Amino acid sequence: MKKIWLSSPHMSGNEYKYVTEAFDTNWIAPIGPHLNKFEEDIQKYIGGSKVAALSSGTAALHLALMLLDIGEGDEVICSSFTFAASANPITYVNATPVFVDSENESWNMSPEYLEEAIKDRVSKGKKPKAIILVYLYGGAAKVNEIIAIANKYDVPLIEDAAEALGATYKGKALGTFGEMGIFSFNGNKIITTSGGGALVSTNEEYISKSKFLATQARDNAPHYQHTQIGYNYRMSNVSAAIGVGQLEILDKHVKLRRGNFEFYKNELDVDGIEFIKEFDDTYSNRWLTCITIDPKKFNGKTREDVRLALEKQNIETRPLWKPMHMQPVFEKYPFYGDRTSEFLFDVGLCLPSGSNLSQDDLDRVVGGIKDILLLNLD
Ligand SMILES: *Cc1c(COP(=O)(O)O)cnc(C)c1O
Repeated sequence: MKKIWLSSPHMSGNEYKYVTEAFDTNWIAPIGPHLNKFEEDIQKYIGGSKVAALSSGTAALHLALMLLDIGEGDEVICSSFTFAASANPITYVNATPVFVDSENESWNMSPEYLEEAIKDRVSKGKKPKAIILVYLYGGAAKVNEIIAIANKYDVPLIEDAAEALGATYKGKALGTFGEMGIFSFNGNKIITTSGGGALVSTNEEYISKSKFLATQARDNAPHYQHTQIGYNYRMSNVSAAIGVGQLEILDKHVKLRRGNFEFYKNELDVDGIEFIKEFDDTYSNRWLTCITIDPKKFNGKTREDVRLALEKQNIETRPLWKPMHMQPVFEKYPFYGDRTSEFLFDVGLCLPSGSNLSQDDLDRVVGGIKDILLLNLD
């Protein structure tokens, strides 16, 4: 049986044309017309914020922290329920992560525990230097509440919108609410440049400074002169050429992924399976369709039973992110919450969600889930 992937790259055909252009004009470098166009196209797409295209979303977060002058001894608040790439850059600048739990509705950062964390850190004389707010699986967080708290305590907000390109909150692109936002174009994301990322901000200075740091911090001189440490974080023009083609069909891919979600939701409308919500005024890109499975409703069958049964049928699914405060490498750091994310990790599963899934693929996934959960129910 053909392998069904969780989320695989989906080219439109134009990418090849743009990559060929890059080859024909010999712009095989981290500079060139496709890189400029990709940045302009993203800028237009997200409503005007300035854009630096980079080698990865992780690099974008690293630069964001450096642009806020975060370093040794500083603390940075980060969503606990996320991929490690959200938190790793905090350690690159020798700062300390402080993890905040999820709330039930969005599965993203809890405003309540965010405020508790800030108050407690302030009382210990350690006012956080930034908040990294993650939008998991393409859905918004309680953005208004979080911004209100960030403003109240005057802590800059960085949005990790790596999974959320194409999603909005109150009609505005996720990633454009905070001081800075980041996107990822890794191979499994909603659009891909094979590997890549972007830093975005309405503050033009951040973006020009990020490009400077991303190209080895070269001073303005005929020779190579450096007054600070730089990085090699720029996106290549060849990758950007792929991105130009991908951005053209982003909205179409969002619709296809939203269609997958609707299909799963209709087919798996059974007591004991819950779907991640889309709440007030939010529009999710439905990067991944995620469900929770209550073993009590299925004779003790767990999400792990479902995952393993599907794996045998050559269908890739994945548990939800294991929270950072449970990770061996991060468990020594402070955590504020009520373990909502631990519960989600326990019972949650990401289903195959690519924009290139066929109806046959979707039927196979649903059939596999029904077989394991519903067949032998008394
Ligand atoms: C993918 C991802 C990143 C990292 O992006 P890369 O481009 O792979 O470095 C960061 N945060 C989240 C939530 C992600 O899913």
